[in-house]
Amino acid sequence: MSPRRLRVTVWGENVHERKNPIVRKIYPRGMHTTIADAIGEARGIDVRTATLQQSQHGLTKRVLDETDVLVWWGHAAHRKVSDRVVERVLARVWEGMGFVALHSAHYSKPFKRLMGTSCSLTWREAGEKERLWVCNPAHPIARGIDRYFEIPNTEMYGEPFAIPAPDEIVFLSWFEGGEVFRSGCTWKRGNGNIFYFRPGHEVYPIYHHPVVRQVLRNAVRWAAPDATKWIDSCPQIPARKAPERLEVKGPRMHKEGEAGFR
Ligand code: ZN
Repeated sequence: MSPRRLRVTVWGENVHERKNPIVRKIYPRGMHTTIADAIGEARGIDVRTATLQQSQHGLTKRVLDETDVLVWWGHAAHRKVSDRVVERVLARVWEGMGFVALHSAHYSKPFKRLMGTSCSLTWREAGEKERLWVCNPAHPIARGIDRYFEIPNTEMYGEPFAIPAPDEIVFLSWFEGGEVFRSGCTWKRGNGNIFYFRPGHEVYPIYHHPVVRQVLRNAVRWAAPDATKWIDSCPQIPARKAPERLEVKGPRMHKEGEAGFR
């Protein structure tokens, strides 16, 4: 039997590419489409896109239930993302869906909720060069990538980046102006694998860069869930179902079999 195909949804806020002629020229079909095309170049991956403007931002329960990894690009409209949709995304991450946050998605509602910190950083728009160093050559997200790669013109993001300590740092950026930044970081939240990847400022053709596209493919494969199912309710285990024989002692607040508080 052939292995099951990986199901990826690329979510794009789709605002700059409709309003700004520079962005529209680089991404005539939207940034989300270019990102999805890069991921779809890999064998065994089915990619779909969703945007802010769609009903429920294109992230219905059904779409999320059929998504193994959600990729998120947002910038100008973070506040327009419905809290209900955000809760739905978080529940799926806890269950095991992978989440890849790109560039200015550091300030997106789902990423901030998953991190539990402000996720602030320093920045500068000077079209400077970025050199991304591979910190962890054995990491699956760095597969096929040399010691470093460069993006000729970009926006700078600098430290301090207000995130919880990552489980792993895959890429570290150096910028022409002198700053450094943790550009590729991983975490686990519930059963879900999370990857933050910095490149992707909208006025440069960064998602056409071959190495950036390779990282996107590596990242979704890495973030794919394993088979384990997260217990997302709060079930009470009756004493008679304990693995060992158990005599009930002491006062009890709850009836046997009562549903847990949520
Ligand atoms: Zn930017």
